[in-house]
Amino acid sequence: MTSRIAEWKRISAGGLVSNPGSSERVQTGAWRTRRPVIDFSQCTHCMICWVMCPDTSMQVYKDRLTGVDLAHCKGCGICASECPKHCIQMVPEDRRV
Ligand code: SF4
Ligand code: SF4
Repeated sequence: MTSRIAEWKRISAGGLVSNPGSSERVQTGAWRTRRPVIDFSQCTHCMICWVMCPDTSMQVYKDRLTGVDLAHCKGCGICASECPKHCIQMVPEDRRV
């Protein structure tokens, strides 16, 4: 019987981070097709979107949500899905708001 360690070694190598520490420089926002637009009139500044964003793209100043770092936001829409006030709308990049 094959041990679990041997099974793990059979998995082929996946994506490798060859240049760690480059996230500031690599502008993942270029991948985006939709961008988050926040209705600040409904926002309670609960920071759930800040916690959930995989790219740390929610901008905060003095415990208040202030905007989105569009240079790094990939447009995944997690923030919009998780916002309890439903005040983040994902808008196609080619649409003006
Ligand atoms: S999750 Fe929604 S209500 Fe909470 S800070 Fe973000 S935008 Fe505001
Ligand atoms: S769309 Fe995704 S990457 Fe952009 S701010 Fe929301 S959670 Fe972060």
